[in-house]
Amino acid sequence: MSASRPPRKPRTRLRRFLVPLAAAVVLVGGVCLFVQSGSRVFHPRPGDGNLPAPMGLADQLRDDVRHLSETIGERHPYRPEALEAAAAWIEARFHALGYDVRRLPVGIPEGAPFHTGETRVWNIEASRRGTERPNEVLVVGGHYDSKVATPNWRAAGPPQPQRLGTPGANDNASAVAGLLAIAEHLAETEFRRTLRLVAFVNEEPPFFRTEAMGSLVYARALAAEPDTEVIGMISMDLIGCYSPQVRTKRIPGTGLVTGLVDRPDYVAFLSNRRSRHFAREVAAVFQERGAITVRTAAIPAVHRSVAWSDDWAFWQVGIPAFTVTDTAWLRHDHYHELSDTWDRLDYPVMAEVVWGLARTVGHLVGAGP
Ligand SMILES: [Zn+2]
Repeated sequence: MSASRPPRKPRTRLRRFLVPLAAAVVLVGGVCLFVQSGSRVFHPRPGDGNLPAPMGLADQLRDDVRHLSETIGERHPYRPEALEAAAAWIEARFHALGYDVRRLPVGIPEGAPFHTGETRVWNIEASRRGTERPNEVLVVGGHYDSKVATPNWRAAGPPQPQRLGTPGANDNASAVAGLLAIAEHLAETEFRRTLRLVAFVNEEPPFFRTEAMGSLVYARALAAEPDTEVIGMISMDLIGCYSPQVRTKRIPGTGLVTGLVDRPDYVAFLSNRRSRHFAREVAAVFQERGAITVRTAAIPAVHRSVAWSDDWAFWQVGIPAFTVTDTAWLRHDHYHELSDTWDRLDYPVMAEVVWGLARTVGHLVGAGP
């Protein structure tokens, strides 16, 4: 019998390797499960409700996206004439449909990080007062500005207005076209609740999540209105891409973590955790009225990139809000690129999304008899 220490068993070495690995798997799995617990799939329910979009809607959306992104082109405070042309065009369209229209000022202070000089731009709001419960308000909106050129598509770094920027067809002429189509669908209708359709300015960097963000200015004013009870806010941001792409910008593993699978055959309702019930309620209404699958995902806002759009502004004042989107850079290779042009969007599918939304919004505000 030997008194020397027995040789280390290979099992111990294996354990040294396996224990951290197992812990990592459990941790990552736990995070995935937690995030995925916010995800649901709502397939269309065949029935009388979800009739296909009317003929002509896809063409109308294409014309409107083309007008904003090509005829008007880049539109942001560094091209004030184009931004004003976009605002005036949206305003005129809302007026022609018979809504009460307001121009609401958004101030931009002098200096960094904006470098526009002190100036003022506008949110454009179309509203119709509810006949029975006018204090109950639904807000539906999308931003009409496009992103100024920056050193890269992620928009890190200073604005470079001397360079050409994206024409912003999908981001976000698509949502403005959708907003106008929703306005048109509901133009002749009375609502029991109040509907406010808003085209927001200054969603894009360097204004995103600053005092000069149009939707933040709007949300704060809304929250300060006495007697107004906001039932929720639906934001639209990039609603035009439903075709396979190379996926140059997609982060690997996104589908596993969030439930936002690779196949581009759905539209997503993305929210923070607190707004997930509102997003699901609306998705369930959409399911009876739209001909496309909805995936909801409630992603903890742990990182700046997780706040997707103007819904973020409403979260700041405690209003439930989510964004209707094709999932932006997770799907759309042309996101924030010069190649985000009107001829690259999938209008027939986008028409189904907009048609489903228009009828969903009508239901939520109690349109019709
Ligand atoms: Zn956008």
